Amino acid sequence: MGQTVRSFSGGSRPRASVLCYHSIHPKLRFRSASPELFRTHLEWLTANCDMMSLETLLAGPVEREEKPAVAITFDDGHVDNYENAAPLLEEFNVPATFFLTAGYVDRDPDVIRRFQFLRRAPATDMEPVTWTQVNEMAARGFSIQAHTYSHANLYYCNEKQLDFEIGWAKSYLEDKIGRPVTGFAYPFGRPHCHFDRRAIDRVRAAGFRYATTVSFQTFGPKDDPLLRPRFSVKGDSLAELADKVSGYWDAAGAFHDWCPRWLGRLLHPTGYRNETYGGPYQGPRLTADL
Ligand SMILES: [Zn+2]
Repeated sequence: MGQTVRSFSGGSRPRASVLCYHSIHPKLRFRSASPELFRTHLEWLTANCDMMSLETLLAGPVEREEKPAVAITFDDGHVDNYENAAPLLEEFNVPATFFLTAGYVDRDPDVIRRFQFLRRAPATDMEPVTWTQVNEMAARGFSIQAHTYSHANLYYCNEKQLDFEIGWAKSYLEDKIGRPVTGFAYPFGRPHCHFDRRAIDRVRAAGFRYATTVSFQTFGPKDDPLLRPRFSVKGDSLAELADKVSGYWDAAGAFHDWCPRWLGRLLHPTGYRNETYGGPYQGPRLTADL
């Protein structure tokens, strides 16, 4: 880890990073990490970084000397977050924020089908947390925030679908957990590809105080509160994790976020097709009252 330590102290400023995990599972192909790997991440992070909740990180400024600040988040709401991730987080005394796809936790068949399609996995692998487990996690001090109702690509949503995925899903989640929901994570998370200004404006209008993307950048004080970058984690070695929190990827992340739609489509055509995401949600909830 000598190289890692050098990269921290050689930086021009203390970094702050947000990590985005999904599933912590021994076997699932789409997992972010096995419980064993997640344990090594937590061992390394707690030894080398200043771990804090996303909400504390966002409230900054935080006094930092040499250690980068890191917050951990989880998206979607897999049951392994409750079974495998939460106990490890508590063992290491590390806070975390969980962005829940409300329709997934609800086991809405249309939403389960979308996750099966996205993860190329059988229905038996799509196991969400229950609302009882969510409430227990909130009572244990974990932050519960919003990640739409159906995990649609918001870029392809019409106005009504955007209101449903952002505003309605916020109220629904608040109703389910009995707590205010002030944070939002854009599904898939890439600007110009997975959401546009219409979604950002709705996130603001719905009363969210912050929103997170998926990018390759550490976090800066000048970031738009509704466009906070997070690093996706997928089977990362400790060296890869160290690169992320040390700012190694920042230039690539700046390009990633700037990259206009026309250029992104040239570089990565399938990522810009509606079919890739299963289309906007058309199920019965769309017209439901709370
Ligand atoms: Zn997600």
